[in-house]
Amino acid sequence: MTKKGRVFSGARPTGRQHLGNYLGAIRNYVALQADYDCVYCVVDLHALTTMETTRDLKNNTYEMALDWLAAGIDPQESIVFIQSQVRQINELFLIFSMVSPLGKLTDLPTFKEKVRQAPHNVNLGLVGYPVLMAADIALYKADLVPVGIDQAPHIEYTRETVRSFNYRYSTNVLVEPGMKVTEIPKVLGTDGQQKMSKSLNNHIELALTAEETQKVVMTMVTDPQRARRTDPGNPDVCNVFSLHKVFSSPEEVDTINTECRNAGIGCVDCKKLFARNLNAHLAPFREKRSALAEKPDYIWDVLHDGAQRAGTIAEQTMQEVRAAVGLPE
Ligand code: SF4
Repeated sequence: MTKKGRVFSGARPTGRQHLGNYLGAIRNYVALQADYDCVYCVVDLHALTTMETTRDLKNNTYEMALDWLAAGIDPQESIVFIQSQVRQINELFLIFSMVSPLGKLTDLPTFKEKVRQAPHNVNLGLVGYPVLMAADIALYKADLVPVGIDQAPHIEYTRETVRSFNYRYSTNVLVEPGMKVTEIPKVLGTDGQQKMSKSLNNHIELALTAEETQKVVMTMVTDPQRARRTDPGNPDVCNVFSLHKVFSSPEEVDTINTECRNAGIGCVDCKKLFARNLNAHLAPFREKRSALAEKPDYIWDVLHDGAQRAGTIAEQTMQEVRAAVGLPE
């Protein structure tokens, strides 16, 4: 079947994936394979910008790739690889640096936020983070990048960088990517307040057992105004309800919506139902994950094969880029 174009997406190697990663990215990655040629990248070089130790880098790369494949990313259909294994990325990053205004980079809200979080570790790589991201996308000539709404400015930055490059070197070899904003841009953590994240320890790991999942689900914060079982609740402010909408049937969602408001259902039962539906949804993933985990060499083979295929595209792009810039062959 003819595909509609090429999708590129990258994610930092954060190890075992959680529900936020699944709903925000992985589920979408899997679905996109039907219509697009997909290039999915473990962006380990990006991770170095804020990483103080690389001790877990390799293992986190492996665990994330394992989750991706278990979730349904098909390495025959898609290219799955590690960013640093395609060396051309370094070259395009450097060339893009020449068309990247420093003032603009230091003005980006994401950069300011990183500086605020770690003022002792403001390095050149951190400033150049969006440039590296632009290089990733442009290197594979992606037509479309799936993103959460918070990442939209980075894609806009990529589009500007591609335009600047094409203008500076009077060429049209690089492609301005479009973006596809995911339907669930923000998944809250078990605290019901902040975005689900490993570093905040408010996450639900996909690879947990059914029992472990239920345990974590039972700790989830619900409607804070609902102190007693007999108090009516408000599902509109409850993160458990938001997730029911994703994992439970429309009938169950309707019932909870009504019963919560008249105290007909308690939070304990509501969470148990959510845990049950989540576990049913994740059962095929867990089964596949266990099978894949028994052959770690296969995961590395997939990543190496992906790097070769990605490298072929990257080298083709770089030949055009070098020619446009006027660098010798
Ligand atoms: S009953 Fe369910 S939807 Fe209502 S507050 Fe409790 S957990 Fe949330």
